Amino acid sequence: MAARILNGTEIGRQIQDELRQEIEELKQAGVTPGLAAVLVGESPASHIYVRNKIRACEALGLYSERLAPPASITTEELIAEIETLNQRPEIDGILVQLPLPPQVEAQRVLQAVDPAKDVDGFHPVNVGALVANRPGLRPCTPAGVMELLRRNGIELKGAQAVVIGRSDIVGKPLALLLLHQHATVTVCHSRTRDLPGVARTADILVAAMGRAAYVTPDFVRPSATVIDVGINRVEDAATAEKLFARHPARLEEFRKKGSALVGDVHPDVVEVAGALTPVPGGVGPLTIAMLMANTVQAARQRRGTGVRAPVAR
Ligand code: NAD
Repeated sequence: MAARILNGTEIGRQIQDELRQEIEELKQAGVTPGLAAVLVGESPASHIYVRNKIRACEALGLYSERLAPPASITTEELIAEIETLNQRPEIDGILVQLPLPPQVEAQRVLQAVDPAKDVDGFHPVNVGALVANRPGLRPCTPAGVMELLRRNGIELKGAQAVVIGRSDIVGKPLALLLLHQHATVTVCHSRTRDLPGVARTADILVAAMGRAAYVTPDFVRPSATVIDVGINRVEDAATAEKLFARHPARLEEFRKKGSALVGDVHPDVVEVAGALTPVPGGVGPLTIAMLMANTVQAARQRRGTGVRAPVAR
C-alpha cells in the first residue's frame, strides 16, 4: 500500500493563517513585527530563497527589508551592518542568508546577531537553549519538521528516530528536538557503518544529507514515517528516467520542464513507508512558515507583548 503523503504545503498554509490573525492583533496593539534579510553577493539560489521569505512577510503583513551588500564585503563590514540592525527597534528578526563568501568568517557574523533577533536560531545562545530544552528561537527547518509531525499526529514518545545528517542547521538541532519529545534518537552521518541497517531500525526516519534519492526502499522499515528534508535538482535525463521509472507522471513533468526537484529519499520509498513527505511540497514550505513564526515570537518577546508561542514547540 502506498504511504500516506504528509502535505507540507497545506500545513504551512495553516500556520500562516494562524500567524496572519496573530499579526493583526499585534498591529492593533501598535506592534508590526519586522524582519531584515541580509543577502551577500549574487548566488541565484540564495536570491530565490530570500525573495520567497520577503514575499511571505508581505503576504502576512510583516514589515520586511532586504540588505544586499556586495560579495566583496569583509567580515568587519558585515558585522558593522549587523550591529546597526541590532540597534534598530523596529527590526525584530535578522537573518543572514548562507552560504557567505569564502573571505567572510561566517561563525563571527552569526555570533554578531543579537540572540533576541536571531530568527534562524544559529547564535550560540540559542543553540545552548535548544540543548538545555529552554525557551529560545529554534532553527526553522527542524522546527518545521516537528510541526509537521505534531500536526499529523505522529507519536514521538518512545519512538525510534533515525536522523541521517548531522549539520548544525538541520540534523543536529532536529535530533535534539526529537529527543526533547522523548524519541530514542540515533544520528547518522557520512562515516556511519551499515547505514541501511541502522535506518531500518527507525519508526521515524529523517533524511537530511543532500544526496539525491540516496535513501532507497531497503533503508526503510515497512510502515515507517519518512521525512525527506533534501532538496536536489536533477537535470540529467538518464538519471530522471531511472528515478521515475515507476512514476510516469513525474517523468512526464521532468520531460516538460527539463529538470525536477528530488529529495534525499528515492521516489520508490512511497511503496514501503507508512507516511512520507513529498519533495517539493513537504518540509520546504514549513521552513518559511517557521521563519515567520520566529519573527512574531521575537517581536513578542522583545516588545513585551506576552510570550505566546504561535505554534507549540
Ligand atoms: P550539509 O551538507 O551541511 O550536511 C549534510 C550531512 O549529511 C552531513 O552531516 C554529512 O555527514 C551527512 N551525509 C552526507 N553524505 C552522507 C552519506 N552518504 N551517508 C550518510 N550521511 C551523509 O547539508 P544540510 O544543510 O544539513 O542540508 C541537507 C539537505 O537538506 C540538503 O539537500 C539541503 O538542500 C536540504 N535543506 C532543505 C531545507 C528545507 O527547507 N527543506 C532547509 C535546509 C536544507
